[in-house]
Amino acid sequence: MTAAIAVVGSGPAGLYCAERLARELSGARVDVIERWPTPFGLVRGGVAPDHQVTKSITRVLDRPLGLGRIGFFGNVEVGQDVSLDELAGLYDAVVLATGAGRDRRLGVAGEDLPGVVGSGDMVAWLNGRPDAGDLAAVVGRARSVVIVGNGNVALDMARLLAKAPAEFAGSDLDPGVAAVLASTPLRTISILGRRSAAQTAFSPIELAELGQLAHALPQLEPTDLPLDGEADDPVLRVLRDFASTSSGDAAVRIQFRFGRQVLAFRGHGRLEAVEIAGPDGAADVMAADLVVTCIGYHAEAPGLVLTDGHLANSDGLIAPGLYVTGWARRGPSGTIATNRAEAHEVARRIVAELVPAGRAGGVGLAALLRDRGIDVVDWARWKAIDAAELAAATPGRVRTKFRSAADMLAVPGL
Ligand SMILES: Cc1cc2nc3c(=O)[nH]c(=O)nc-3n(C[C@H](O)[C@H](O)[C@H](O)COP(=O)(O)OP(=O)(O)OC[C@H]3O[C@@H](n4cnc5c(N)ncnc54)[C@H](O)[C@@H]3O)c2cc1C
Repeated sequence: MTAAIAVVGSGPAGLYCAERLARELSGARVDVIERWPTPFGLVRGGVAPDHQVTKSITRVLDRPLGLGRIGFFGNVEVGQDVSLDELAGLYDAVVLATGAGRDRRLGVAGEDLPGVVGSGDMVAWLNGRPDAGDLAAVVGRARSVVIVGNGNVALDMARLLAKAPAEFAGSDLDPGVAAVLASTPLRTISILGRRSAAQTAFSPIELAELGQLAHALPQLEPTDLPLDGEADDPVLRVLRDFASTSSGDAAVRIQFRFGRQVLAFRGHGRLEAVEIAGPDGAADVMAADLVVTCIGYHAEAPGLVLTDGHLANSDGLIAPGLYVTGWARRGPSGTIATNRAEAHEVARRIVAELVPAGRAGGVGLAALLRDRGIDVVDWARWKAIDAAELAAATPGRVRTKFRSAADMLAVPGL
């Protein structure tokens, strides 16, 4: 009997899992269901627009979709257009690879003031995602920016805000977003970390990139660093370099401030300042017109149990026939490659446990969605959207993304 498996979410975890299932179960039908008309999850909509080498993993992820072994149901939101129960009736197994799409909150006073933005919302805007809010006004007036968090997303935020327009050559940054970034009166970016310089989650390569920007200078006080010989690793070496070159002048100063905890955001009608506690516990107030919190994400799954921001599971199993992989399974950690190994592990488990029952699979799903009037984007239509975006690239850009699902759906199919 032919097995039918649905994978919900077309980020790296979902596509790696689908590819492995299709390879291991010859004859099985694997369908990937994605709420946007475009695949690739955070690789398209999260990874920084100026990191095209990282984004080029889409070429690997895209390949199995084009071989006809895996179906693509784009523009279909599970929970909205089709329920999880309905999928469970149509498929022998369902894999949730829906990521961790919501910003974690600090839980301090003033967090809802205009001007305080989660990094998930910020990267959605920077990457032209259809669900992005319009941050043009809030980013456009930013003179003093505070970035909360000491991971690579914090570095992405600082770099993208501090880059000169010419430094976006070869990116897919939207022309409208580029115009806003170019017009900000930006002078200072402060990157705050709760812990010490020796305890950041920065990667040294991304950190060192900040030292190569045309108009920006990373700065930190030598006293913020462990003494020479006390601790040494590649990140501390880059930070020591920054400390030794801190004294120069630049249009934008990127200040690292460790051991700082945010106590509250202050402002009347919009953000004006951040209240922090320093390493000695003393309170301090920093002026700020924009705060980007980069403190992680949590999953969303109505009707399912969340533990510590991800879907409760036992080695990838949520319930009989229902599996989970990627950020939805373990939370926002690791690199794109981490999802590969983990998705393969879940796929192996499914192969071992699958009991095909002759379910309707993609044929049944297509009929159900047709009856509901859902405009499904298949792989050929995605390729037409992709081709239209590549053709619309402006000079110095690799593509111009459609910013709304409606515009994507209006592209004629191949
Ligand atoms: C700002 C940022 C920068 C990053 N930069 C890097 C980097 O440089 N290098 C690196 O290795 N990693 C980077 N990462 C991490 C990397 O993006 C993640 O490891 C990876 O995307 C997680 O894969 P995933 O498939 O679990 O989730 P996602 O990529 O989030 O994919 C989940 C997919 O599920 C879809 N979905 C969600 N709910 C539904 C639903 N109800 N119905 C249908 N579809 C649904 C979403 O639309 C999305 O397409 C970055 C992450 C962020 C946030």
